[in-house]
This record gives sequence, structure tokens and C-alpha cells, in this order.
Amino acid sequence: MTSLSLLLWIVSGIALQLAIFLGVSFWRHWLDYHALRSSVAELNIPLKHDVPEDTANAVIAAWQGFRTFRVDRKVIEDAVQSVCSFYLVPEDGQPLPPFLPGQFLTFRLDVPAATGNTEQITRCYSLSDAPRPDCYRVSIKRVLPPINSNFPPGRSSNFFHDQVVVGSLLQMRAPIGHFHIDRSDDPVVLIAGGIGITPMLSMLNWCLTEQPGREIWLFYGVRHGRELVMKSHLEALAAAYSNFHLRLCFSDPQPEDMGKHSHRGRVDVSLLRIQLPLKPYHFYICGPTPMLESIVPALEDWGVPDTHIHFEAFGPSSIKRKRPATTAVTKMLDIGAMETSIVVTFAKSGKQLPWQPAAGNLLEFAESNGISVDFGCRAGSCGTCQTTIRAGEVNYNHPPDYDPELGKCLLCVCTPKTSITVEA
Ligand SMILES: Cc1cc2nc3c(=O)[nH]c(=O)nc-3n(C[C@H](O)[C@H](O)[C@H](O)COP(=O)(O)OP(=O)(O)OC[C@H]3O[C@@H](n4cnc5c(N)ncnc54)[C@H](O)[C@@H]3O)c2cc1C
Repeated sequence: MTSLSLLLWIVSGIALQLAIFLGVSFWRHWLDYHALRSSVAELNIPLKHDVPEDTANAVIAAWQGFRTFRVDRKVIEDAVQSVCSFYLVPEDGQPLPPFLPGQFLTFRLDVPAATGNTEQITRCYSLSDAPRPDCYRVSIKRVLPPINSNFPPGRSSNFFHDQVVVGSLLQMRAPIGHFHIDRSDDPVVLIAGGIGITPMLSMLNWCLTEQPGREIWLFYGVRHGRELVMKSHLEALAAAYSNFHLRLCFSDPQPEDMGKHSHRGRVDVSLLRIQLPLKPYHFYICGPTPMLESIVPALEDWGVPDTHIHFEAFGPSSIKRKRPATTAVTKMLDIGAMETSIVVTFAKSGKQLPWQPAAGNLLEFAESNGISVDFGCRAGSCGTCQTTIRAGEVNYNHPPDYDPELGKCLLCVCTPKTSITVEA
């Protein structure tokens, strides 16, 4: 054999091995891809690359409009009796579609009005348990008037606590929302403040059963132990699952609160830095706006990438990120490129007014000019303030949970991009 033919044999042998290696790798990836596709299809959850980038995390509502549910059970969840869970079963008896842990329901309620009649209001409540086919659960905190004010107590939450009973019928939209846990195996940190525990309970319960072994931490901040929601459930999970790490953080602890999982003080990033090993965690945060306003920028300062920080506030919120978010919707928010003199025309009210960024979103702008608009959550979640745009364009700070119909906008979370005429 000549040295040339020997060389050819060696090269062909290497090429053959390479081809076999590539073929086997491709086949394995193909099998993994198919397994992932069919497991996601079973849950009816769109795969990320099946939907446009902006809506990659959105999920199509499982039913359109409102569906009637009956309250099957009511359970008080904390020692101070301010949080009550409602177990809801569909009146039509059909199995329930799954949802993504972290999503919420939208309720249309007929609550008593001061006039003696009823008034229709819309409110959103997070699902507080993992998906199951027979019922949904929400856990609602009774909202009191601000201290030293004469305002009436929260209408929806007090209506739920005082007037919604076992057997009551409620109108609900399908689960929806962009704030939900990812399906990867990445380690995850859940951070809850007060009633912000509800979506975390859903994520936690789902993760522990569906993703065995995934490292999961829960930092749960309240003032003292009597405010803890589902305390014994959380402690039982921490005892049962070695991959679940529970930290109960008390800003004003009572002596009896300090136990195995307790920490004295609020949840903040210095605590996370002490407690968490260095790993590429995903952070999910839900709590009062001041908590989000301090934790989100601090995580960014710590070097956590934007794509690993997910948060939701229950109500009007405008968490300013240190680094601008990179979604297409946010990129549109270029104040410098906006028209310098924007005029907003409220067609039905017959008012034409100059708008400045300091005037806030279009709902606030309407209200401050005596224009009354129906609203619910003031957070882009419920769709109550959806209004037709007759001319012009709007910007959203981040994609709203409720997808406005074509030619309409959600006044509570948008600002004018150009001079605009809206039907209000
Ligand atoms: C996506 C999402 C998920 C949510 N999930 C949950 C959840 O799981 N659990 C939960 O408990 N909540 C949740 N919320 C919050 C919930 O939707 C309601 O905002 C909350 O229950 C308060 O509604 P309410 O009708 O009881 O209070 P409202 O009637 O809206 O009143 C709110 C506060 O304003 C005060 N007030 C009344 N009138 C005035 C006035 N004229 N001026 C100033 N203040 C006034 C009231 O006294 C009260 O303190 C969620 C919100 C969103 C957006």
C-alpha cells in the first residue's frame, strides 16, 4: 500500500466516524425535540418558537368571554384571618383547561353600590395552586381603607370575604398572564411579599410535582408569623423535599416566629447574596410596588441578566428597570423620537388636550381632565379600559397581559406615541 492510499484510508475512516457521530447526535436531538413537543402539546401550551417573539410567553385564553363558576369551598389561610381561598368549579361540569403557574383569573362582579343598586366591577386574582382538572383556586386578601382615611374598604376583596359563599356563582375569564414560571431545569428563586405569595404557591406546587429535583428557593416576606399564608403547607413541603429551600422573612417578628426557616428582616438582595450559592437562577418576584422597586434594580446591579428577572405587581406599577428591556414594544418607547407636541382628542367628551410625558398614561390623563373611563386593575390585566383608537398610535411600557383588540388600546398602561384621537 502506498503512503498516499494509506492517507486516503485514514481520512475516509475519520470522515466516516464524524458522519456517524453527527448522525447519532442529530437523531438524539430529534427524539428530545419530539418528546418536548408532545409533552407541551398535552398541556396545550404553545412552544416558544411557535409564536412571535413579543408574545412568546403569552398563552391563548382557553375560552372566550366569561364562564360561570360555582364556589365549592372557602378556606381561611392565615392566623389574622385576612386571606381566604376560594375553590371554583365550572358550572357546566366540563374539565378545566390547564394554565401556566403564575397566571391569573379575571372576575366580573356585581357588588353593592352606595345607591343601593349593584355596580359591575372587574378584578384580577392569581391562581394559587398548581393546575388541576376539577377546580381553580384563588386566595384573596381583604383590603382595608388606608390608615386615617375615610375611604370605603376595598370593594371586590370585601365582597369576596363577606358575601361570596359556598354555592355563589361567579363570572370569570380564562386564565391569562405573562408572569409564569419557565419550564426549564434551571434553579429558581421565588420572592413573595405579603399577598404576592399567591402566584408563587402555584409555581411551587407545580414545580415540586412536575419537575422533581429542580432546585427551588422561596423567600417570603411578611411582618410577622400570624400573617403567613398556608404556613403549615409550606413547612410540610420544606420537610418533604430536599430540593426546596424555604426562608420566612419577618420585618417585625414575634418571639414565637423565629424557627428553623425564619430570618429577621425584609427580603433584600444582601440576604439573597448570603444565602444563594453562585448559580444561574431565574428570579420570580411578586409583592408590593416598593419591594419590587428595590429588589429588581438590586438584582440587576448584582449582574443578574434581564432574561432571568420576572416580576408582577398586583395593581398599578411602573418598575423602572436600570437597563432598558429589549422587547420590541419597549424599543418603541423612544421619547426623543416622539412628536414634540402631542395632542390627545377624547372624541366622546369633545376634549382636545396637549399631553406631556409627566401626565402619565392615558387613563390618568383622562381622569385628571374630568373624563370618566371604566377601569378595573389599572395594570393592563383585565381589559376594562379598552378603548377604540380613531387615529394615531400608542406606546406600551411592556406588553400588557390583556391583548387589546385590533384598533383598540388599554388606556391604563399606554401613552400616546403620536397625536391621537380615542373614543372616550
Ligand atoms: C394580575 C393581578 C393579580 C392579582 N392577584 C391577587 C391575588 O392573588 N390576591 C389578592 O388578594 N389580590 C390580587 N390582586 C389585587 C386585586 O386584583 C385587587 O386589586 C385587590 O383585591 C383590591 O381590590 P378591591 O376592589 O378590594 O379594592 P378597591 O375598591 O380597588 O380599593 C383599593 C384601595 O383603595 C381605597 N380607596 C377606596 N376609595 C378610594 C378613593 N376615592 N381614593 C383613594 N383610595 C380609595 C380602598 O380603601 C382600598 O384600600 C391582583 C391584581 C392583579 C392585577
